[in-house]
Amino acid sequence: MEETLFTKIINREIPADIVYEDDLCLAFKDINPQAPLHILVIPKKHIAKISDAEKDDQDLLGYLLLKAGMIAKDQGYGEAFRLVINNGENAGQTVFHLHIHILAGRNLTWPPG
Ligand code: AMP
Repeated sequence: MEETLFTKIINREIPADIVYEDDLCLAFKDINPQAPLHILVIPKKHIAKISDAEKDDQDLLGYLLLKAGMIAKDQGYGEAFRLVINNGENAGQTVFHLHIHILAGRNLTWPPG
């Protein structure tokens, strides 16, 4: 399995402010928050980007979305939040381990940058 920064967070090789963990996923605060709430939800399975996900990952992907909604609610932002997945460098992806951004706590404009 390819080692990424996020694999190191999963393995506790580098620290992170973890807000949720179970057998399938980990959620932690973004180190460079773009909103008052900015959490990353990642699968423990290494999938580099959403376009690399396969049919077998279907349940896992649904699970991550459900968890992201639950975590937003648990953090007190259940009414208004945004989930973002950047796929590929030109879309702003910098860490090649699939992650869902949860953003909340400010007015989120549209279209995004
Ligand atoms: P993306 O640009 O969609 O690949 O998102 C990667 C995110 O990871 C960025 O928002 C970074 O601020 C965040 N990030 C990078 N390193 C860390 C870290 N060590 N702990 C928490 N978040 C990080």
